[in-house]
Parts: sequence; C-alpha cells; structure tokens
Amino acid sequence: MKKIAFFDTKPYDKIYFDKFKDEFGFEIKYFESKLNPDTAHMATKYDAVCAFVNDDIGKETIKELCETNAKIVAMRCAGYNNVNFKEAYGKIHIVRVPAYSPYAVAEHTMALLLCLNRKIHRAFNRTREYNFSLNSLIGFDLNQKTIGIIGTGKIGRTFIDICKGFKLNVIAYDPYPQKNSDIKYVTFDELCTESDIISLHCPLNKDTNHLINEKAIEKMKKGVYILNTSRGSLIDSEALLNALKNKKVGAAALDVYEEETDFFYEDLSFKIINDDVLSGLISMPNVIVTSHQAFLTHEALKNIAYVTLSNLSHYFNNENLENEICYKCHKGEECSRKEGKRCF
Ligand code: NAD
Repeated sequence: MKKIAFFDTKPYDKIYFDKFKDEFGFEIKYFESKLNPDTAHMATKYDAVCAFVNDDIGKETIKELCETNAKIVAMRCAGYNNVNFKEAYGKIHIVRVPAYSPYAVAEHTMALLLCLNRKIHRAFNRTREYNFSLNSLIGFDLNQKTIGIIGTGKIGRTFIDICKGFKLNVIAYDPYPQKNSDIKYVTFDELCTESDIISLHCPLNKDTNHLINEKAIEKMKKGVYILNTSRGSLIDSEALLNALKNKKVGAAALDVYEEETDFFYEDLSFKIINDDVLSGLISMPNVIVTSHQAFLTHEALKNIAYVTLSNLSHYFNNENLENEICYKCHKGEECSRKEGKRCF
C-alpha cells in the first residue's frame, strides 16, 4: 500500500480524503505542519507528498524533498504560485487539481460583495447587541452598476454569469480572451476607469504581481469596490490600505492576503498580530477579510480529494498524468506531456 505524507492538515481535509483513500488503496499520514525546508524531511519513507496553497515548495524545500527520495508532490489545489517548477523539473513531478468547483469561489465572491455593500457584517453585530439603528448602513443597487472582471477563466466566467443574474453591467480584461463569447472585453485601463466594482480572478505570476497598485488605483473611480478571491499578491496591500484611508477605494473584500501564510488557517485570537497592514485592513468597517475560504464547500472538498488521489493513482500505475504541470507547460511551452506523456 502506497503511503502519502499529507502536510498542513486541517480537520475538514480528512473528511473526503479518509472517505476515498481505501478505494484508491492509499495510506495517509496527516501532518499538521506546513511543508517547508524544515519539515520536508518528514516525507522520508513516504511514497508521495500532498501539499496545499500556503506550503512552501521553493528551491530549498525541493532540495530537501529530493534527499527524502520524493518523486511526486500532489497539490490539493488549483493555484501553484508557491512551487518552484524550474527546481522541480526532472526530479519531482507536480500534479494539481485544475478545477474542483468554480461555483464555490464565484459564489463566495458574490457573498462578499453582497455582505460588503449591504453592510450585513455590521448589521449582524448590531442586532446581537439589540442595536436596531440603520445609521451608516446604506448600500447601493447592484442593478446596472458596472463590474470589471480581471481573468475570465473557469471562476471568472462563473462569476460573470452570477453577476448577470443581478443585472450588473459586466466588462472584463484578460490577455487571453475567450473566443466567440458574450463577454465584453476592454483594456486593463478601461476596466479600471469604468468599473464601480472590480473583482480579481487571474492567477498570480510575475505579470500579475501587484497588478492592483497605486498607479492602477489612481485610474479607478472614487469609491470603487475591490474584491479579491484569487491570490493576495495581486494587490499591493499597502497601496490598498492608503486608498481606503483617503476614500479613493470605497470598500474591499479580501479572501486572500499577500502575507497570509503566517496567519490564515490558524486561530490567532489570543496573539498580537505583527502585521500593521493586515491589522489596518481588518480594523476598517468597509473591509471584510475571510481566511482563504472561498473554496470551502462540500462539493469542492470532495472533488479535491478524489482528483488528488486519482492523480497519485495514475502516477503509481504509470498512466498519463493529465493534471501534471511543469515550468515549460505552465508557460504554454512544449514539453513531452503535449505528446500524451509525462512532463519529463
Ligand atoms: P483559470 O486558469 O481557469 O483562469 C485564469 C484566467 O486568468 C485565464 O482566463 C487567464 O487567461 C487569465 N489571466 C492570465 N493572466 C492574466 C492577466 N495578466 N490579467 C488578467 N487575466 C489573466 O483559473 P481559475 O480556476 O478561474 O482560478 C483563478 C484563480 O483563482 C486561480 O489562479 C487561483 O489563484 C484562485 N483561486 C482561489 C481560491 C480560493 O479559495 N480563494 C480557490 C481556487 C482558485
């Protein structure tokens, strides 16, 4: 029976991995520690490694994993900005779950927008204290407002459909627009200047790092709402905080934060948060922060577990690895996977 070293385990991870592991014939050792250069040695004597969004799969970790003789890391997520593919190439196969539920993330994005706009988070706290005042709770109709979607892949597309149900006027920016679609594409600058609400659904890479920075915010409408359920570093958080302070940005909902690795998924309610930008954002009445939870539905967790274990099963059975990704194919370059083989 093949054994998997499972890093950064939370109780909800086990629900579906435990349900499917016997079907695939795997034994899973759940480690609470995140995967990083200091913990990689824990993978010794295991046949595979399973990692998540805030694990560090950089150069040093990969070197350490190679020492343990690891041959495959199964990411139980879609994003892969935390992986050093160049270092892994030729040594460790990286597989992922490219799509598990675009609905989970898109629906959470709309939940954040509705909550933020109609001040539900504030009303909830008030009525629990028998404060039934409506002062400062005014929102706006979404009907006919313009929403700019950055990234029109699986999640962006699903969110566009939800927005259309609310009769929002949808515009979008994507350097690789969908062909023959009903999406109204504009340039990045047009999206910034025309949108009442901006929502991020693109991957994090060197082109998109701090895509929303001081310069981009400067182009936006005064009072714009910004939603980010994609990756924290798409936004320069300090620039966002300043723009919220000077009221250029009207409100923000963040499911992700650029320095989230040190905080998200942990109960730090008894600790002092050593990050003034995060503290500043959380302290604002017009900011909602959720802890990278947009994916967290039963349907998504079930698909994540099933596809992750299928990926590993394909690897051990010498079958094609359709969900493998390497530094070549993730940039759209040719690698041997294009010929129906593995990346290397
Ligand atoms: P996808 O690959 O289907 O779509 C990404 C889209 O972004 C593509 O259409 C691509 O062309 C576009 N894009 C690439 N570079 C761009 C740029 N410079 N500007 C604008 N658009 C660009 O991915 P997806 O499944 O829709 O996921 C989108 C992102 O959502 C992922 O990269 C991940 O970071 C994030 N995500 C977050 C959670 C969460 O729980 N918060 C869960 C899953 C995914």
